[in-house]
Amino acid sequence: MPITRTTPTLCPRCGYVLDAHGTAPGQTDPRPPGDGDYTICVGCVGVLQFGADGTLRPVTADELAAVDPAVLAVLAEQRALIRRFFPPRPPARPQ
Ligand SMILES: [Zn+2]
Repeated sequence: MPITRTTPTLCPRCGYVLDAHGTAPGQTDPRPPGDGDYTICVGCVGVLQFGADGTLRPVTADELAAVDPAVLAVLAEQRALIRRFFPPRPPARPQ
């Protein structure tokens, strides 16, 4: 999975520093994340979405329910991989 380094940004859910983002499975060309792209925090495994200015915001359960099922399946698969390979971390700040 190609990785793109980005300006360090804190996860809005847990405060984990996110400074790299992988491309979606099947994509081979690394590119900076864009407006509306999803990412998953390795600190809390929360689904986040990029804004046009590169900021991250948590995706709500209602928003997730409206996501294309194929995209949702990829997000679920990636969350499972993160849970498998990254041990749980205590929150960097109170939630
Ligand atoms: Zn997080």
